[in-house]
Amino acid sequence: MRFSKLAAAYEKIEATSGRIEMSELLGRVFKQAEPEEAKRVVYLTQGKVAPPYEGIEVGMGEKFVEQAISIATGYSRKEVENAYRASGDLGKVAEKFVNERKQSGLASEELSVERVFNVLRKIAITSGAGSQSSKVKALAELLNSASPVEAKFIVRFPLSKLRLGVGDPTIIDALSMARKGDKSARKEIERAYNLCSDLGSVAESYLSDERLIRDVRVRVFSPIRPALAERLPSAEEILKKLGRCVVEAKYDGFRMQVHKSGERVEIFSRKLERMTPMFPEIVEGIKRQVGAEEAILEGEALAFNSATGQYFPFQMTIQRKRKHGVKEMAEKYPLHLFVFDLLYADGKDYTKIAYAERKKKLKEVLKRGERISIAEGREVSKPSQLEAYFEEALEKGLEGVIAKDLKAPYVAGAREFAWIKLKRSYRGELSDSVDLVIVGYYLGKGARAEFEFGGLLCAVLDENEDRLKTVARIGSGFSEEEMRELKGALDKIKLKERPKKLDALVEPDVWVEPKYVITVAADEITRSPMHTCGKSGEEPGYALRFPRMVQSIRRDKGMEDATTVYEILKMYDQQRRISWSNR
Ligand code: ATP
Repeated sequence: MRFSKLAAAYEKIEATSGRIEMSELLGRVFKQAEPEEAKRVVYLTQGKVAPPYEGIEVGMGEKFVEQAISIATGYSRKEVENAYRASGDLGKVAEKFVNERKQSGLASEELSVERVFNVLRKIAITSGAGSQSSKVKALAELLNSASPVEAKFIVRFPLSKLRLGVGDPTIIDALSMARKGDKSARKEIERAYNLCSDLGSVAESYLSDERLIRDVRVRVFSPIRPALAERLPSAEEILKKLGRCVVEAKYDGFRMQVHKSGERVEIFSRKLERMTPMFPEIVEGIKRQVGAEEAILEGEALAFNSATGQYFPFQMTIQRKRKHGVKEMAEKYPLHLFVFDLLYADGKDYTKIAYAERKKKLKEVLKRGERISIAEGREVSKPSQLEAYFEEALEKGLEGVIAKDLKAPYVAGAREFAWIKLKRSYRGELSDSVDLVIVGYYLGKGARAEFEFGGLLCAVLDENEDRLKTVARIGSGFSEEEMRELKGALDKIKLKERPKKLDALVEPDVWVEPKYVITVAADEITRSPMHTCGKSGEEPGYALRFPRMVQSIRRDKGMEDATTVYEILKMYDQQRRISWSNR
C-alpha cells in the first residue's frame, strides 16, 4: 500500500473531531490494506512500531529531526529552527519545506507503508555509538522521497506527536467497519485485544480471517489487559450486589502481571510496560516459589516487613522507580508480592474460570516462601463482616479493601462488578480519588509567580466518544518541588492550540498534550456550566468541587487509564444516594 494513502487519510482525520468520521476514514484504509499492512497501520496510528508492551520507541530529539529536514530539503539548520519557533510544529515545517525544496533528492521513489514502517523501526532499534547520525540519515532519506503531506506525518513519528486524536477504541471501530460496514464486530475485536494487548496482530488476524480472532488465546509473555474494580459506597451495597463474596486487602504498591516460562520471567506494569529489570528479587522469588512450568499471575508488590507484619508507606515502595541502585534497594528494602489472581497455568487459560476456582489453583501453584504470598482475604456474607474486615485493613495501614465475585471470570481490560473497591473516606470527602489527564496549566500569580505555575486544567476520558472532557481546575495540593517538576514536564509538551482530542469551554494559559495523569481528591462532584464532563446539549456538565492533587504525575498510568466520564456520573449518583451515617 502506498504511504500517500495513509497520509491522505491522516490529513482528513486531523481535520475532524467526529469519532464516527475518523473510524470511517481509517476503516477505508484497512479495507484496502493487506492484513500485514493493516498491522503496520495499527502500530503507526498508535505512534509505535511494535506492540506498546515491547517498549520500542521511535524517539528522536527535535534537534536531530531538524537536521534531517535540513539535509532533505536544502534549507539551513537556522532556517528550519526559525520556522519551528514560529509554528511550534515540526511536522508543518517539514510539509512546507518539502513543498518548497531547494534541492531534490537523488533517488526519490514512491513510499510504501512498509518502507516507512521499516525505516522508523530501524530508527527505533538502532543504538550505540554513531547511532544518532545514522538515524538522521535514515529519516532524511525518507523525507527525500516524501510528498509534503507525507513529510508532515513522517517527522511526527519520531517526535511522538502524531496528534490525530485516534485512540484504540476508534481503531477497533475502524477494523469492524472495514469488514462489516458497521461497528458490530467491536466487542469481538476488543475481547481479542484484551487478551493479548497487541492490536496490530489482532488487526492482521481479523482482516485475514475473521474467525481467527475467536481463537486468540492467552499466551505467556503477551500481557493481558488488566481487570479493574468498580466502586460502591458501602458494605451493604456491595453485599446486595455480590451476595456471599470474598473480601481482600487492597494493597497500595505496584500492580504487576508476572509471566513465567521455565527460567524466564517477565514483569509487566499496570500500563503493560516491561519492568523486569526493576524487580530482581521478585523475579528470583517467582523462580523459587511458582510450582508451574508456565504461569501468569497478578499481584501487588510493596515494601513489607515480614518479621513485624507491617506495611511500609507507599513512599518507600515508590523509591524503586529510580533507574539506579536497583540492586542495592532490592537488598535493603526487598519488595513482597501479594498475588491476587492466576490467569494461566501450564497450558490452561484460567481467565474464563470462576474466581473461586482460580484461587484454589493459585494455592496449589504457589509454594510457601518469603518473597511471595497470596493476598489475604476472607469470605463474608453479611455487611457487618465486611465492615469488620475493612476496619482491620485500615488499622494495618492499608488503603481499603476489594470485594470479589466468587463466580466471576477474569474480565480483562474492563471495569466491572467482578471486583468492587471500598476505600477509606472522610466525612465531606469524595469516596475515592480520581485519575485525571492534564490538558493545560495556568501561570502563577502572587507567591507562585516565581514558579510560573498557578494550577492545572484536567480532564476525564469519554470512552464512548474516544474524547477528553474537562472536569476540574486544580489549584492546590502541590509542593514547591512538585510545581517545579510539573512545570518542567509540561513545558516539554506545550501546544499552540487546544489538544485535538479535547472538548473544553475554558481556556488555560498554556495548553499541553494530554499525556500525564495525576491523582486528585475532591469534596464532591457538582454540576457546572464550565466543564464538558457529562455535558449534553444545554445541560451543565459535572465538575470536582475543591479538587486537590494527592499524587503527582503517575508514571504507571497513561491517558487511557484515566477516570472516565461514566465513572464520574456514577460517583455523582452514589454521593446523592449515600447518607452521612453510611460513611
Ligand atoms: P486505585 O488508584 O484505587 O488503586 P486503579 O485505577 O489503579 O485504582 P482499580 O481497578 O480502580 O485500579 O482498583 C484496583 C487496583 O487495586 C488494582 O489496579 C491493583 O493495583 C490494586 N489492588 C491492591 N490489592 C488488590 C487485590 N487484592 N485485588 C485486586 N487489586 C488489588
